Amino acid sequence: MFNRILIANRGEIAVRVIRACRELGISPAAVYSEADAGALHVRLADVAAPVGPAPAAQSYLRGEAIIAAAKQLGAQAIHPGYGFLSENAGFARMCREAGLAFIGPPPEAIDAMGGKIGARKIAVAAGVPVVPGYDGADQSDTTLATEAEWVGFPLLVKASAGGGGKGMRVVSSPAEFAAALEGARREAGAAFGDATVFLERYIQRPRHVEIQILADSHGNVVHLGERECSIQRRHQKILEESPSPALSPALRAAMGEAAVRVARAAGYVNAGTVEFILDPDGSFYFLEMNTRLQVEHPVTELVTGLDLVRLQIAIAAGAPLPFSQEQVSFRGHAIEARLYAEDPVSFLPAVGRLALHEPPLGPGVRVDSGLTSGDEVTVYYDPMIAKLIVSGADRAAAIDRLRRALADYAVLGLTTNLPLLRAITKNPAFVAGDTHTGFLAEQQINAAPPAAAPPEVLAAAAIWEIKGGSGKAMPSLNLPLFENRWRAGGVEIPLSFVLGKETSTLRARQSGESWSIAYAGGQIDLRIVTIRDSELVLEIRSTLERFRVARGEADELLLSWRGDTYRLTRPAPLSADSVGRVGHGHDGASLSAPMPGTLIKLLVSAGEQVAEGQPLLVLEAMKMEHTVVAPYAGVVRRLPFAAGDSVAGGADLIELEAAED
Ligand code: ADP
Repeated sequence: MFNRILIANRGEIAVRVIRACRELGISPAAVYSEADAGALHVRLADVAAPVGPAPAAQSYLRGEAIIAAAKQLGAQAIHPGYGFLSENAGFARMCREAGLAFIGPPPEAIDAMGGKIGARKIAVAAGVPVVPGYDGADQSDTTLATEAEWVGFPLLVKASAGGGGKGMRVVSSPAEFAAALEGARREAGAAFGDATVFLERYIQRPRHVEIQILADSHGNVVHLGERECSIQRRHQKILEESPSPALSPALRAAMGEAAVRVARAAGYVNAGTVEFILDPDGSFYFLEMNTRLQVEHPVTELVTGLDLVRLQIAIAAGAPLPFSQEQVSFRGHAIEARLYAEDPVSFLPAVGRLALHEPPLGPGVRVDSGLTSGDEVTVYYDPMIAKLIVSGADRAAAIDRLRRALADYAVLGLTTNLPLLRAITKNPAFVAGDTHTGFLAEQQINAAPPAAAPPEVLAAAAIWEIKGGSGKAMPSLNLPLFENRWRAGGVEIPLSFVLGKETSTLRARQSGESWSIAYAGGQIDLRIVTIRDSELVLEIRSTLERFRVARGEADELLLSWRGDTYRLTRPAPLSADSVGRVGHGHDGASLSAPMPGTLIKLLVSAGEQVAEGQPLLVLEAMKMEHTVVAPYAGVVRRLPFAAGDSVAGGADLIELEAAED
């Protein structure tokens, strides 16, 4: 067995492999790019080495640098994770030459399955059906156009070197063929340096069903059942499950055996996945083989009770598979949902800092992630935040659990596809298991985040601002300093919040232990149950409502409630609504400086009558300007400071005598 394994990857998969190493008593070694020096996978490893600048081509894809790091850190094996160098036969060879075990298949098997055309031929030779099509060596336009006619329309032009949906074009009629061919070639040439294409009949409403296989170096090959991955956006998976609602035991056995035949024909060793497309008529066709651990492998782990990474390591160390096909058993149902930092409607990736990442807990819930609160999602790598994997006794229980876990998921600071995942779990076709690869496009699931904040959320925002929450309060409203003073008087505190195009104005008033928050359409009476860290619990109409709260960029207030997230800002200018509003009896009161600063401007003079809300003076503190406005109508009695004066925190800035009501 190995003493130390170097993980040539980052993010959640690096963390996943580190955990398996720990469980086996193996020391995990990390590599990192300049952007990842403080990343979770580095924080969790025993040792770590830098491998270059942020772009993957200059760091995680530099085979020699990674081998050098493995040597330097004293590792005997390299786990490549998925992506990056995981399907690079050249890298697997370099490991072999350097005397390091590559925790994956031999380079010959990667090569055999690397091109889709070559893989199709291996499948055919192994007696496994492929989608009818043309995969000949003659790549001339005329031959391809002629072949397209018998394949029939619609058809797919696919790049042999393709992956990630690149170099693939759907062609619905002969007239479109020439342009699609040119597009697929151009894309494949640019992305893979190989413009070879082939043609496949386009299967209507298919399911994507893949089989997990494991092969040891002693000739044993088993399959671990299927994963259904039909819910895709842009030909990329976002929800995977096992078992597939579409497979009978007989079909499962047939597909499993086909996958094992393909693996044997390729001389495969270690964990791999054979992907099939399943026609609604029950025929299945080999698509390709992924010669690595898949993102969605936990789904198989939860239904088989096996640890695939542990088995990968054992196989790479030369151990035989510890069980036979007959000993593989399946239990319950598992579903994985991929949480991405991306717009839930346009699918455009989002970048930024995760102000709060609090995944759900509880029975049957697993979360694999490489990010914790405060970590950054950058433009350099995949924007996946986490994989949420749930299991239950059956599909219905797993869906219930997934819904609960998604509703408990608190992720603030980044736009995520959480609304889309939640909407999918409520979609009747999904619940019925009636899915196909065009599911998302067909169902037109509305995953737009809420356009307006419900009154409960506005009330929570108001309480958080007034009470300061944890950490710093809004600079424009540093009320905790005055709390004692205004509590006595029960002054109304006006606040405004902006969500998208909507501005909501509220008035908060405390009386004893209760608060009333008035908003445009009504009033909420509440009691604060808990306020701490990133958590706020309010009792509203005899019901406890739990909010997760964090501060975002530029002092946005981020709230999560009942699975939805809200990004609230204060109207510009930042402090026009309410600064230093101090309670008063009827004897007039002072407005004091919320923090030390400089008085930059007096907007009123002594003796002047002012209206409620009228700006009185401008204070600069913490590099920001704060306008102090009159909390009530009255007469300015005294202005102790002049423009340019420094003022201490808590100093009285102005004395304002209330007008007679
Ligand atoms: P890539 O390697 O680029 O991801 P795949 O060959 O794995 O490409 O196909 C990706 C997805 O495209 C599949 O999951 C499926 O949704 C769709 N697809 C591929 N081939 C066909 C086909 N012949 N008919 C219909 N859909 C297909």
